[in-house]
Formats: sequence, structure tokens, C-alpha cells
Amino acid sequence: VDYYIGNIDSKKHLNAFLEVYDHEARQKAVEVDQKVKNGTAGKLAGMVVALKDVFCHTDHGLQASSKILNTFESQFNGTAVQRLIDEDAIIIGRNNCDEFAMGSSNENSAFGPVLNEADNERVPGGSSGGSAVAVQADMCLVSLGSDTGGSVRQPAAFCGILGLKPTYSRISRHGLIAYGSSFDCIGIFSKNVEDMAITLEVIAGKDEFDSTVSTQPVEAYSKSKFDPSKKIKVAYIKETLEAEGISKEIRLKTQEALEKLKADGHTIEAVDFPLLDYLLPTYYILTTAEASSNLSRFDGVKYGFRSPNTSDLESMYKKTRTEGFGEEVKRRIMLGTFVLSASYYDAYYTKAQKVRRIIREHTKGILSNYDFIIMPTTPTTAFKLGEHSEDPLEMYLADLFTVQSSVSGLPAISVPNGTDSGGLPIGLQIMADDFQEDQLLAFSDYLI
Ligand code: GLN
Repeated sequence: VDYYIGNIDSKKHLNAFLEVYDHEARQKAVEVDQKVKNGTAGKLAGMVVALKDVFCHTDHGLQASSKILNTFESQFNGTAVQRLIDEDAIIIGRNNCDEFAMGSSNENSAFGPVLNEADNERVPGGSSGGSAVAVQADMCLVSLGSDTGGSVRQPAAFCGILGLKPTYSRISRHGLIAYGSSFDCIGIFSKNVEDMAITLEVIAGKDEFDSTVSTQPVEAYSKSKFDPSKKIKVAYIKETLEAEGISKEIRLKTQEALEKLKADGHTIEAVDFPLLDYLLPTYYILTTAEASSNLSRFDGVKYGFRSPNTSDLESMYKKTRTEGFGEEVKRRIMLGTFVLSASYYDAYYTKAQKVRRIIREHTKGILSNYDFIIMPTTPTTAFKLGEHSEDPLEMYLADLFTVQSSVSGLPAISVPNGTDSGGLPIGLQIMADDFQEDQLLAFSDYLI
């Protein structure tokens, strides 16, 4: 705990933490130490964990990096947080992120951007940028983020660490602030597979507080090993390597990783995915629709901030939301309200639901013939602060490769795949079929 707190203190300029629970963490460390001596310690005894600012944690501040939740404190532990605590993990603080998990650069936080430790002029990715940097810069061992369309995998790639988005419904969403409920997944950042596997093992599984969570038994992820003598079949999607805007160095590194697998005797084949152009529109139509509904609860009555300049109920709602939400969140609420409006519902929302099913079926079709799909995690390495913040469409392109598994509900991981010539980390994304986390993690371990 002292080691991590030392790093948090000396790397304050990275702005990865909104709050540090130093006193509490030290106390818990003493308790856990005693339990270890008594032989009663939990599975995660002493694991120092940080939480993205979207997890309910009893009597701790919770703001989704938004002004609208100013002064709000959570009254209960979400399921994942409770399970970490029950197994004696030590929670060290909460991390900065894009407001309500909307963004790809962590520049949409009400508390200022997070800086990438690899290059302080560059973004760490988003929306879970603070949680990625917390692991990157050794401010904790493991952190939890949320991944709706890439918010764990993309920052993991930008920061040179591992980031997992499990199958939708693998981990209970109880106590996770909702963005797009049919996409939202709790994800894990770490520097190795072992820490990730044991964390997933603890937090996954059925839960009476989330009616959508899977009851499928949780496997012993930390025990599964990849058998290198077993030859596997990997597909890569041709279009992802030919996509407009993909950096040459990322393309080369991805090809190198595929070549290496081939040299080791695995089958590597190119497949077509003609739906690439539909991924981002489908994702942004459906998630903004869900967000506009989920965020209607923040109205100045029930949570956090209320505008002081109001005269009646109507103006209280309006002013609270106008002053409390940031620009990107408002843009998405408006987009989502538009696609759900009576005259456009079928043209946009219903249509996108249909396209979503086609994307999932097509992706599952590929996975019925291959063990994994491999592609780059992102089209570029970490970009400069401010580089894309004027043009939302340009920013949305950062999610080009991560949204496929989110739209499909499938598990995917980003693992480090070297650096570009400027020393910036590159990520490799591996996607698997529903509930194949054990294979996905074991294979990742073999790969890195
Ligand atoms: N960057 C994507 C977005 O802005 C993904 C966010 C996320 O996964 N929470 O929606």
C-alpha cells in the first residue's frame, strides 16, 4: 500500500485519481496482514485495486467524473466491489474517467484530462483512462473499468497494459452507473494474465441484484493454461488491416503477431467482414438511445448537484441538467432522444437493433469456424491531447475496432503488442465466442 501511495503522490500530474483512500487502505492492509497470519485471508488478500468513478462503494464519493453528481456518496456496494472486499482486496481510490463513461480520450472529465505516462502530451484513451494509467504507472496492481464500446480495451492499448471486456452478462452490473445497459460490461486492467484471471474469477457470476447476469458457472480462470502443442485456428478480418486511417506501424505489428502464430504451427486465415462500416453507426445509435433514458434520472431531485438559479420545477430540471452535464453527455442525450422520438424510432432505433443482430450473427458465424478473431485494438496509437476534441466524429473513429465485440456481446481482450517507432504502446485485440474467457485468458498468456 505504501509503495502504491508513494507512486500516486509522485505522479499526481497524471491526474489518474479523483480520490485516494490512503488512511483506509493502510488500515485494511494491517487487517489483511493479520488474516494472512491467521490463515483466514481471502483469495485476493493484499491485492491493491483502484475503481473507475462509476462503481458504487458504500459511503464513498461517486460522480462518474460529472459535476451533476457533485457531493454524491454511494449508500451501498455494487456486487463486483462487494466481492473484491469479501476476498480481502484493498481498494485504494477512485479514478478519473470520461464523464458518464462517454469518450475515448478521458478529455470529457469534469476534473480535467488524465495524461498518458508513456508521453505526457498524449491521452491515455478513454473512457477508463484514469484506471488504465493507475495500472500503467504502478499506482495499484489491478483496476476495474467499464467497457461499453471499448473503454477498457482502448486505454489498455494506449497505455501498454492488458484490458479485458468479458462476455456481456458475465459480471453483474449491480452498482455500476449505467451508460448503455445492453452493452455495459465491467472490465479489468492488469499487467499480467494471472492477476486478471483471479480478479475475474472473484467478481463474475450470478447475482440476485442483476436480472440480466448469466447464471453460467464461473470457471477457474486462474488455473487454465494454454497447451502450446495444441494447434488453433485464428481468423483475422481483412478489412481491419485495410481500413482507412489505420497506422502503418500498427498494421505491420499486427501482421507480425499473426506471422509468429503461423510459424508456431497455428492456422491463420483471412476472413471477410463486410459490415465494418455499420459498426460505429449501430453502436452510437443504440448506446445514445439507452443513455438518454438512463441519464434521465439525474434531474436535480434525487442525486448530487442542483442548480441554485431556479424558480420552479421546470426550470430546476432544465438548469440543473444544462449546468450539470458536460458537452459530450448533452450531445449524446440529444442524439438518443432524437433516435427514440416517435417519427424516427423505426428509421433509426429499430433499424439499428436489426443491424445489431446481423453483426452478432456474422461474428458468431466466424467464431464457429475459428477459436479466435485477432485484430488491432485501435487504428492509431495514443493521440495528442486536444487532437480530436473539436470533432466528435473523428473521436468516435478511435472505437472502430472495439465496438464489434460490444455490439455482439462477445468477450475481447487487448494485450500489449510492442511499440511504434516513437515508443508508444500498440495493442492487439483477441475476440472469442460467448463465455470463452478461460481460453481467451490462457491464449493471451501464451501470446505475450
Ligand atoms: N469511446 C466509446 C464511447 O464513447 C466507448 C465508451 C465506453 O466503452 N464506455 O462511447
